Amino acid sequence: MARLSDDCFAFGGTLMSGAEALRLVETRTLPLPEVETVPLAVAVHRILATPLVAPLSVPPHDNAAVDGYAVYFDDLAPGAPTILPVLGRASAGHPLPGAAPRRAAVRIFTGARMPEGPDTIFMQEDCVEEDGKVRLPPGLKQGANRRRAGEDVKAGTSVLAAGHRLRAQDIGLAASLGFGALPVFRKLKVALLSTGDELREPGIALPEGAIYDANRYTLRALLEGLGVAVTDLGIVPDRRDAVEAMLVRAATDHDLVLTSGGMSTGDEDHVKAAVEALGRLHFWRLAIKPGRPVAMGQIGRVPFMGLPGNPVAVMVTFLVLARPLVLRLAGAREIAPRSFRVIVDFAYRKKEGRREYLGARLDAAPTGGWIARKFPRDGAGILSSMVGSDGLVVLEESLTELAPGSSVSFLPFREVMD
Ligand code: AMP
Ligand code: MG
Repeated sequence: MARLSDDCFAFGGTLMSGAEALRLVETRTLPLPEVETVPLAVAVHRILATPLVAPLSVPPHDNAAVDGYAVYFDDLAPGAPTILPVLGRASAGHPLPGAAPRRAAVRIFTGARMPEGPDTIFMQEDCVEEDGKVRLPPGLKQGANRRRAGEDVKAGTSVLAAGHRLRAQDIGLAASLGFGALPVFRKLKVALLSTGDELREPGIALPEGAIYDANRYTLRALLEGLGVAVTDLGIVPDRRDAVEAMLVRAATDHDLVLTSGGMSTGDEDHVKAAVEALGRLHFWRLAIKPGRPVAMGQIGRVPFMGLPGNPVAVMVTFLVLARPLVLRLAGAREIAPRSFRVIVDFAYRKKEGRREYLGARLDAAPTGGWIARKFPRDGAGILSSMVGSDGLVVLEESLTELAPGSSVSFLPFREVMD
C-alpha cells in the first residue's frame, strides 16, 4: 500500500512539526467575539478588546521635576549669580493662583503645576535662601527641570492595542489616563478533564495499582494563570462511551475542551476515536519530544485539544501549544511564547527530525548571560524535572549533537506562567 509522505495521521507517516501545528492553532480558530467592561482593579491579565486611546495628556500640565525655585529665565543675570525675592509657593495639588510676578522666584515642589510665567526651575540643593531672598547660581539652561504636559502620553494617541494582555504597568497607564473600567474580551470558558482508570483524586487513600491525578492540577493552575474560567470535570474512566459522553458534556457551554491522557492508540486510549466520532481532528501526533500524542480538533464547533498523559509531556505541550490556543481563542494578539538564547553546559544527542524540550536550570555565567544546566533525569514522567527547572531548552529538528558551550534557545517558565 502506498504511504503518503505528508499524511501525518498514517502510522509510520511523517509527523507534523510543532511549528506547523502552531500555524494550525492560528488558522483553524477564531477569537471570541464577546466583550465586557470590567473595573480597572480586576482587569489585570484580561485581554483588551478595543484599542485604548488617551482622552487626555499625561501629565495634563507642565510641572516641576524637582523641589526648588521657579523663575523667568530672562530675569537671570548671564554668567553671574542672581538674587531674587521669593514670592509665592506652588506644591503638588496646590498651584500658584494667578501669574507669577516678574523678577521674583516662586518656591516650588516636585509635581507642582508650573506657575504661569516662569519657564525654568533651580534645584533647591543649588540655591541659598535667606531673609526671603534666594541666591541662584549661573549656568542653568532655559527650561531646566520643567516637565512638559503630555511628555508621557499625548491626548489622542493610541496607547494599547486591541488584543493586548493587560500587565501591571498597562493597568497603571490606564489609571493615569482616568479609565475606571476597561473593555475586555469575556473570560474563555475551558472544560478540563483527565482520562484514565488508574487515576484518583489527591486527598484520598490510594488503592493498589492506582496513581494520583497530577495533570488536572497542573493544567488548572496553568489555565488560571491565563485568566480563563475553568470547569473541572474530573476524571473519566477508560471506556469509549464514558469518554464520548463526557466530551459532549464538556463541549456544551464551553469555548474549549482540554483533556489529558488516552491520546495514543492503545486499547485503553479512547479520546482520539471519540473526538473523530463527535467532530474532527486538525492534527494528531507531532514531531516533538516529549508530547508526541497531542491533538487539536473540534467537538461539533467547539475547539478541542488533547494532551498526552505523561505529566512532563502535559506541561510542555500546554506551554507550546495549548497556551497559544487558549490565548488565540481568548482574543490575544501575541500567542507564541518568546524564547531566549543561552549557553548549555552539557552534551546531548538526539534524533534528527523532531524538536526536543529539556528541563534546565539557569545560572548566571561569569562572563554575562546565562548557562543552562540540564536536570539530571529526563523523561516524560519525571515531573520533578519540571520542579527543578527554570524553563525548557528547545532543541531544533535539525540538531543531532549538542556540545557543551553551544548556544540554544530557552523558554523560561516565567515567560509563560504569569
Ligand atoms: P496515557 O497517555 O493515558 O497512556 O498515559 C500515559 C502515562 O501517563 C501513563 O503512565 C499514565 O498513568 C500517566 N498519566 C495519565 N494521566 C495522568 C494524570 N492525570 N496524572 C498523572 N499521570 C497520568
Ligand atoms: Mg491512559
